[in-house]
Amino acid sequence: MTVGIIGHYRCGEHDMGEHHPENGKRLTAISDQLIRSGLDYVVRQFDSKPIDKRLLLLAHTQEHIDFVFDNAPNEGEENFTVGPDSVMNAKTHTSILYSAGAGVDAVDLVMNGSLSAAFCTTRPPGHHAEHDKGMGFCFFNNVAIAAAYAKQEYGLKRVAIVDFDVHHGNGTEDIIRNHFNATPEDDKGYLFCSSYEYPLYPFEIIESDTPPVINTPLAATTKGPDFRKAITEHWLPALRKFKPEIIFISAGFDAHIEDDMSQVSLTEGDYRWITDELKTIVQEHGQGRIVSMLEGGYHLGALGRSVVAHINGLIGN
Ligand SMILES: [Zn+2]
Repeated sequence: MTVGIIGHYRCGEHDMGEHHPENGKRLTAISDQLIRSGLDYVVRQFDSKPIDKRLLLLAHTQEHIDFVFDNAPNEGEENFTVGPDSVMNAKTHTSILYSAGAGVDAVDLVMNGSLSAAFCTTRPPGHHAEHDKGMGFCFFNNVAIAAAYAKQEYGLKRVAIVDFDVHHGNGTEDIIRNHFNATPEDDKGYLFCSSYEYPLYPFEIIESDTPPVINTPLAATTKGPDFRKAITEHWLPALRKFKPEIIFISAGFDAHIEDDMSQVSLTEGDYRWITDELKTIVQEHGQGRIVSMLEGGYHLGALGRSVVAHINGLIGN
C-alpha cells in the first residue's frame, strides 16, 4: 500500500495567540515522531498546493468566504475574530489555503492511483466550520470540501466521512444536512459518522442512528473497549450497508488518555484498531481509498504517537 503524507510548512504559521493549544508545534511534533519511527522513509511526502478559492463554495456560502478573506489581517494589523475560538492572524489566510488544498490534492493522488491512502497534516483544522460560519479553531471545513470535490471531479456516488475527534463534527454534519441537502430519504451519496464525548464542546448534539448522520456520543468515562464497542455497534454496520467508494477521516486525536482536552481515555492501539476497521470496509467497494485529515490532538507526544499508529494502520505495517 502506497501511503502519502500531504501538508505544507505554511500550515504551521497560523497562530491564535500565546499558549493556544491549537498551534504550529503540533505539526512539528508529528513530523518529529514520523522521523523517530522511521515512517518518513516509508511514506511518500508531498507539499500541498493552495486551494483554488472557488472550491470553497463546495461546502460554504459566498458570504462566509468573503467574510473570512475580506477581514483577514495583513502583516502588522490586529488579529480578527471570525467566530467563537477562531482567530486569524496575518498568516492565517495562507495557512487556510494550504490546509484546504491538502485535501483536494490528496483526493487527486488517491483517485489517480498514485496513492492508496493519504494523511493530510492540515491546520487550521476544519470539522467545526459550518457552511456559513467558522468556530472552534476552524474556518473552512477541509474534509467536507475534499469529499464534495471527490464527487464533483471523479463522479463518486458513495462518499463516507467518519470523525473520531473527541469533539462532535458539527460543521460537517451541518454541511451534509444544510449545504449538500442530504436527508434520510435522499442521502445525496453521503454518510457521516461522528463519535464524541458528550457533554463537551460544541454541546448541541442530537444522537442519531439514522443515515446520513450517525452521531455516537461517548461518556466521559469511555475507555478503549467501550469506544470499540460503540463503533462496532453504531458505525460499522452503517458503513458496510453504505458501501463507500472512498472514506474520508476527520482524524482528531484529542480523545487520547494523555490529552487534557477531554476525559475520554483512548490509546494509540485504539486509533490503530479503528484505522484497520475502516480500511477493511473500504477495501470491499472502494479499493482501499482513504483520505484522512488532521483535526484535533493537543498533547504533543500523544499526538505524534497516535498519528504514527494511524499511518501504520493505513500502510498495514
Ligand atoms: Zn477536537
